[in-house]
Amino acid sequence: MSARIIDGKSFAATLRDRVGTEVSRLKDSYGVTPGLAVVLVGEDPASQVYVRNKGKQTLEAGMHSVEHRLAAETTEADLLGLIDSLNADPAIHGILVQLPLPGHLNSDLVINAIDPAKDVDGFHISNVGLLGTGQKAMVPCTPLGCILMLRDLHGDLSGMEAVVVGRSNIVGKPMANLLLGESCTVTIAHSRTRDLAETCRRADILVAAVGRPEMIPGDWVKPGATVIDVGINRIAAPEKGQNDDGSAKTRLVGDVDFASASAVAGAITPVPGGVGPMTIACLLANTVTAACRIHGLPEPE
Ligand code: NDP
Repeated sequence: MSARIIDGKSFAATLRDRVGTEVSRLKDSYGVTPGLAVVLVGEDPASQVYVRNKGKQTLEAGMHSVEHRLAAETTEADLLGLIDSLNADPAIHGILVQLPLPGHLNSDLVINAIDPAKDVDGFHISNVGLLGTGQKAMVPCTPLGCILMLRDLHGDLSGMEAVVVGRSNIVGKPMANLLLGESCTVTIAHSRTRDLAETCRRADILVAAVGRPEMIPGDWVKPGATVIDVGINRIAAPEKGQNDDGSAKTRLVGDVDFASASAVAGAITPVPGGVGPMTIACLLANTVTAACRIHGLPEPE
């Protein structure tokens, strides 16, 4: 058996088109242009790439995009001051502070300073609490992307056995909450889980959000299961040769061993091209949702 490959790229393209249509509706019917502000502190190269892509895709969707690039040594007071001004700015409906922040800044304090209505990453404790209690929340983008793909694939998820490997605040926990909201029977596994292989084998839906390259082999996957691989890990790829500076070329892999898992699973997301592209598309969708809620306008479906 060979799994159906879930094409996150084309799924994300469809979602971005829908967002673009919604943006036009908001502009034409209500004179509202959704605006997203992204704040980057420091020089982390991966974060710089993410922020650049976010800005580009925001503009392509017809939205207002603002980037604030601050020096690594920015003080907490200055960062909080910027967030206050973005909270008060009527042209801004979404505020995203790119994580991780440099060590001298308290991420919890900074994230919780964002107006929850503009918290398009869904990390503010108000939104975490709303999601956890099944109320209308801003939902973190990566788990939201996963759930949209799962709904598209299965329709009704109720009663399905879901196992989420990883319990981070940005992926594992909100993912588990969303699956619970879909009436799945949810298990959250982590580094202290006793028999991870056996736990994974129970899953009709297996979500891997660990950050360990290819740690989940095919024989941990229940035949026919849907595997959502959130992991993004860069590993050396000597088979691709060397860079000009003599260093080994690299490639991206997920937390799941794609070759063996795709022989067993019913459907699987590849890395790259699975969950990753959906994350920014969901950020754009969340910004539109925030703009609608802030202006009291009908929300997209
Ligand atoms: P974290 O490091 O915050 O969390 C990792 C989780 O995995 C922890 O809960 C940890 O358990 C668990 N874990 C670690 N080792 C093991 C193990 N051997 N067995 C079982 N569980 C283990 O990572 P994130 O949640 O932030 O990210 C996870 C992955 O997803 C990363 O590869 C990241 O790059 C990727 N990612 C991808 C995104 C996308 O857009 N596609 C967005 C965000 C993240 P414990 O709590 O016990 O330590």
